[in-house]
Amino acid sequence: MQFQLLLSATFAAGLTGGSVGGLTAGHSESCAPDRAGRDETTVRRLSDSLHLIHRYGANMVVFTGPDGVLKVDGGFLDAAPEIELALAELTDEPVRYLINTHWHKDHTGANAYWGLAGATVIAHENVRMRMLGSGDKEGEKMLFHDPPMDPEGLPTVTFRERLELTFNGEPVLIEHYAFGHTDGDSVVYFPGQNVVVMGDLYRQDNFPYIELRSGARPAGMLRAIEAVLRRVPADVTVVPGHGAVGTRADLREFYDMLWDANEQIKRAVTAGQDLIALYNNKMLGEYEDRWADGGQRNRVRGFLQIMWYCYAPKSARGLGEDRAPAVKPEF
Ligand SMILES: [Zn+2]
Repeated sequence: MQFQLLLSATFAAGLTGGSVGGLTAGHSESCAPDRAGRDETTVRRLSDSLHLIHRYGANMVVFTGPDGVLKVDGGFLDAAPEIELALAELTDEPVRYLINTHWHKDHTGANAYWGLAGATVIAHENVRMRMLGSGDKEGEKMLFHDPPMDPEGLPTVTFRERLELTFNGEPVLIEHYAFGHTDGDSVVYFPGQNVVVMGDLYRQDNFPYIELRSGARPAGMLRAIEAVLRRVPADVTVVPGHGAVGTRADLREFYDMLWDANEQIKRAVTAGQDLIALYNNKMLGEYEDRWADGGQRNRVRGFLQIMWYCYAPKSARGLGEDRAPAVKPEF
């Protein structure tokens, strides 16, 4: 196993996390739906050596082989014993590496469980920062893992832009995309298996969550997805953070929806519509059925709230982001 720490340049930090006046969308460090008894642990084969494990709405991927297990995302802590049993059906080898795609608890809650079992945790440096503690940064209330992560669960290998491992004789590429879902998102590529694991930069079962308070913005999520789409082959298997495994075409559908919704919302805010009007007018049309599970109003409201606060003027306690129409890239 080799590490190649490729780049150390600081990524563009044009957007700083700021408070979002009036933003009430609850998130509680998790993007998964309510955990109460909704599902059981399921294992799905993606290839000979890659499997998807799903529990409590969260997707995890395990790469098994002679070097042991490399796991992408840990899931919730209370699911960990069940996940371990499911893994034992696949391999006798231990989890050597645990990659966190971002800091939310539905992806990191079991970190210490796997860390105590000997796994080395790998994540973007901002994931570690948000796990370390609480408090303010530059006078702004920041979002932090609450309570702080146990030492055994902290990432001990961090990176800024990308990290390349060789594991089970194959490359595993971990790439950071800035300010899409959070400020510490990674996409994990398994080129030898033709699989890409998106974390919550892509969810298949709901509108996206864009964590404005971490500096994430709709444009950042669109840039991230565009970069992945430009890179992966047409027959790639795409694993979302939540929801069913899909194809490049499914990821493209998500991108097109977000692009269109983003432009529509910019226009509506420019025209002076407030959040209640956006919601009551069902402005996202058929997207509300497709992306909010039959138009569930709480899901529609959650997405519109984020998008509206992003573009609403500061006089309306929004972030006042630039609402100029964007030109859709051809690719
Ligand atoms: Zn998340």
